[in-house]
Amino acid sequence: MPIITRTADSVESEDWRQILASAFRRPDELLNWLGIPRSDVALQTDNQPDFPMLVPRPYARLMEARADDPLLLQVLPLQEERQTREGYIADPLGEQAANATPGIIHKYHGRLLLLAASGCAVNCRYCFRRHFPYSENRLSRAEWQQALDYVRADHNISEIILSGGDPLLLQDEDLARLINQCEAIPHVRRLRIHSRLPVVIPQRLTPELTDMLSASRLQASIVLHINHPRELSEEHRQRLQSLKNSGITLLNQSVILRKINNNISVLSELSERLFEFGVLPYYLHLLDPVKGAHHFDVDQREAVDLHRQMQAQLPGYLVPKLAREIAGLPNKALIHLDRD
Ligand code: SF4
Repeated sequence: MPIITRTADSVESEDWRQILASAFRRPDELLNWLGIPRSDVALQTDNQPDFPMLVPRPYARLMEARADDPLLLQVLPLQEERQTREGYIADPLGEQAANATPGIIHKYHGRLLLLAASGCAVNCRYCFRRHFPYSENRLSRAEWQQALDYVRADHNISEIILSGGDPLLLQDEDLARLINQCEAIPHVRRLRIHSRLPVVIPQRLTPELTDMLSASRLQASIVLHINHPRELSEEHRQRLQSLKNSGITLLNQSVILRKINNNISVLSELSERLFEFGVLPYYLHLLDPVKGAHHFDVDQREAVDLHRQMQAQLPGYLVPKLAREIAGLPNKALIHLDRD
């Protein structure tokens, strides 16, 4: 295989769709581009994983050329994912039971998830939806109406959360149409977008997207998913600040992951850097025990200890809530400092 060097794609399109189309899809290709010899990868990579590899180039550019780079390890398929472990299952959050109607996951009072897209711009190896049956949730026009009828019929729903996959994979015109339909439901007051796309392709945060969200009658927020301070670059700064200046609330949720961020200096720096970029730390999640991701899991005691250290080092508004999702509970389970 020819070696493709890091400099080969230094001139990049500004169009996020073209950037996504050129994403890395094979471990060898990514490792060659980073200049990491295969012999350096202590753990065996998997060239034909069930959950395919997908790594956009802007994200790869944030990696360092070493096999234990915490950004690389989040996205590199390893043979270890094929090992089964007791307690790690395909649907750890019982989402298929909460899949009220195609396209909707309704677990919590007053808000629900609309599965607006069935894929992501990056495939995180620890993803709790890596086995989710997206093909059964790809909606026809009639099914979209059915999903919106479900929201219309439940007057308790004041917030719609666009999720996926990644809802920012929708083209702007489709996203605008969906937002209009949500706005037309009188009892809906807020729109939340859960997305990792801007982290891996910051060019997705276009002025058009900012205008669309700030013009909505719904109070809009974006919950990003950033696990490591090096995932935020100068490329993100201005784009996030322009969203914030337009009145969009920016929050972040992270997952605590072994060998990625289970370290007090990394977690503290992440909170500091998020705030510097206009984003408030919101949740720090324990890993959902999904099949294929056991090697990322951090023991709850260790997580509580790290959280306690964050509390000691940071002002309260920079300490995310430590939480775990438990299938069937009507809310996230907060893990308190005095209870481990
Ligand atoms: S972006 Fe989110 S939903 Fe998509 S693979 Fe990563 S963790 Fe899963």
